[in-house]
Amino acid sequence: MKELTLPNIELPEEAEYLRKEIREFLNKASIQGSFEPKCDTWLGGYSAEFSRKIGQQGWLGMTWPKKYGGHERSALERFVVTEELLAAGAPVAAHWFGDRQTGPLLLRYGTEEQKQRFLPLLAKGEIYFAIGLSEPNSGSDLASVSTRAKKSGNKWIVNGSKIWTSGAHHAHYMITLVRTAPLGDKKHEGLSQILLDLSAPGITIRPIHLMTGEHHFNEVIMEDVEVSEDMIIGEEGEGWKQSLAELAYERSGPERFMSTYPLLEELVRRLSDSDSDYAKIAVGRLVARLWTLRKMSLGVAGLLEQGKSPEIAAALVKDLGTEYENEIIKVARLLIPSNPSVTAESRFDALLAQAILHAPGFTLRGGTTEILRGIIARGLGVR
Ligand SMILES: Cc1cc2nc3c(=O)[nH]c(=O)nc-3n(C[C@H](O)[C@H](O)[C@H](O)COP(=O)(O)OP(=O)(O)OC[C@H]3O[C@@H](n4cnc5c(N)ncnc54)[C@H](O)[C@@H]3O)c2cc1C
Repeated sequence: MKELTLPNIELPEEAEYLRKEIREFLNKASIQGSFEPKCDTWLGGYSAEFSRKIGQQGWLGMTWPKKYGGHERSALERFVVTEELLAAGAPVAAHWFGDRQTGPLLLRYGTEEQKQRFLPLLAKGEIYFAIGLSEPNSGSDLASVSTRAKKSGNKWIVNGSKIWTSGAHHAHYMITLVRTAPLGDKKHEGLSQILLDLSAPGITIRPIHLMTGEHHFNEVIMEDVEVSEDMIIGEEGEGWKQSLAELAYERSGPERFMSTYPLLEELVRRLSDSDSDYAKIAVGRLVARLWTLRKMSLGVAGLLEQGKSPEIAAALVKDLGTEYENEIIKVARLLIPSNPSVTAESRFDALLAQAILHAPGFTLRGGTTEILRGIIARGLGVR
């Protein structure tokens, strides 16, 4: 079996200064009523106004070059910003995908024109992206996607449908994995990524409602949608390789173990006067696991900073992290008598309800547990 080692990262002083700055900002915003802390806000908490404010603070596109509107700060400083936003339960969904993965994707593979056009708007929190990978018949087996882009003159004509597309009803563009060459023996070949303008004629966005009634994800249907040829990202036929390169960004961040953090914080607050040793041990275990996951996630951020692409470690963070998010819910239900409801006046009951109703998605989105474990096992040479 191969070894998996992650660097032991200590946050530099400037990152801790930044933490104070962002905490003050978030405290003020929360007191002024700009947002109400919730669970799972990186997927469900949409506020264009809040995302623009975060952009104005210089907290989007933090690691990107200044010439594209970025701030040339470190991945570790970005880590601190993301963990503070998640801990506060702030409404960050509008900019989350763009800042996390579309920006890095364009920086690595995009044309100069695409970088100049999209990155500054992303960094200002003024343009939002959806991720168009999954299809009705292609989820885990992503390489079987059948959305087709055919060349016609200087345009691509796109036909097909995507499903579970988070935030497509708010987003301006969707990074869409399409087949640009007919399916051959090797299904990973002939795939490309295109920047699809979601307001283009021929696109229908249908809501799929969550159990809470919230409209969060969608089905996106594309019928003869015309896309200019310069909207292809990177090389034609390199879509699979490019999509894989995004995964370390997508799977390793603190959002993979902090979706239910506001509930944990409320649980600790509620138990602060408790004499129960059982409760103290249960919460102590949760906090210790959080510390470990955070260390691992920081290790991945450190490797990304060095320009590496640690997909196996990222898969591990996501698998362990999403299990942990569910564990917080279980412990909270066990320790405090509750009547969970999204409309409850009790903050604990409301947070618990949000967490319970969003939880089924935790281990599915971004790759299911079974698929991640297969990747980890293969990566470690035990499969
Ligand atoms: C909240 C949420 C948000 C999402 N947002 C987006 C988004 O923005 N964009 C996007 O493109 N997609 C999105 N998805 C889709 C997500 O990526 C898919 O749900 C996921 O990849 C699984 O695909 P599937 O739903 O088709 O399930 P399937 O692939 O059909 O899997 C069903 C079950 O079979 C298991 N399984 C499948 N193949 C294997 C195998 N080879 N070995 C062992 N077990 C296997 C799976 O683990 C799973 O338990 C989102 C999903 C959720 C829940």
